Amino acid sequence: MIKFQVLVLAMVYFNNLWAASCKYNLYQINSSERAAEKYLSNKSCNKGINYYWKKFGFPKKYWDEGFGFHDACNWKKPLSRMFNALFVLQYAYYPRAKNWDDLSGPSVKWAYPYVARGLNRLDDTLAGCYKSSSKKNVIATTQRHWYQDEWIKFWLPFFYTRNMVERAATIFHEVRHWRGNLSHNCGKSKDKHYPSKQPYALQVDYLITYYWHANRYTSKVHKAFAKELGKSYLGSKFCKSVAKWAENVF
Ligand SMILES: [Zn+2]
Repeated sequence: MIKFQVLVLAMVYFNNLWAASCKYNLYQINSSERAAEKYLSNKSCNKGINYYWKKFGFPKKYWDEGFGFHDACNWKKPLSRMFNALFVLQYAYYPRAKNWDDLSGPSVKWAYPYVARGLNRLDDTLAGCYKSSSKKNVIATTQRHWYQDEWIKFWLPFFYTRNMVERAATIFHEVRHWRGNLSHNCGKSKDKHYPSKQPYALQVDYLITYYWHANRYTSKVHKAFAKELGKSYLGSKFCKSVAKWAENVF
């Protein structure tokens, strides 16, 4: 009996450890998205290592140990999935922005220079498991403080519950927090209204313009992803109800 109790306790302890660990189940990603991620990883990894890594402040210690530092072309690893999202930001629209100061055209065009300028200045693009054991669904966190270290950190749900279009839009959202020194202005997780220049407004604007104007490395499925998330955010992330024209924007 005593032996049995010890065994049960050991199992509970082991299960708790496992639950608190940094594992994520990849099988939630469907087969066509796996193929799309794999295809893009082969394109984005060299670009990512030689360019995004050097310019956007990826500290090795955050992207090591399973996050992909030694395996940057592996679409299953967070680093590759980050590169894929940056690649979508940079290449989904043609003609591309001329440089990092060119904010002309629809946001599917200028989100990349905006993000690139931001990540380059911030110089601290981080990754981690979960925000905390009680906040396992937080996607990303931006810290901007005059007296503290500043960074943008992407958590496991960013890498594994979001497709590449959603990740691209999320990066834009977080960089908007940092560059604009903006918090959400209606409670902790909503913005007052759309349109505005708040993070959710720009994120939705990106998704709308992606849906209408993306013309490279895109597909009907990816446009449908943009539409789905954009519609859901229009209906849930703004305190003031969205104007009629915006409801029909997709
Ligand atoms: Zn936010």
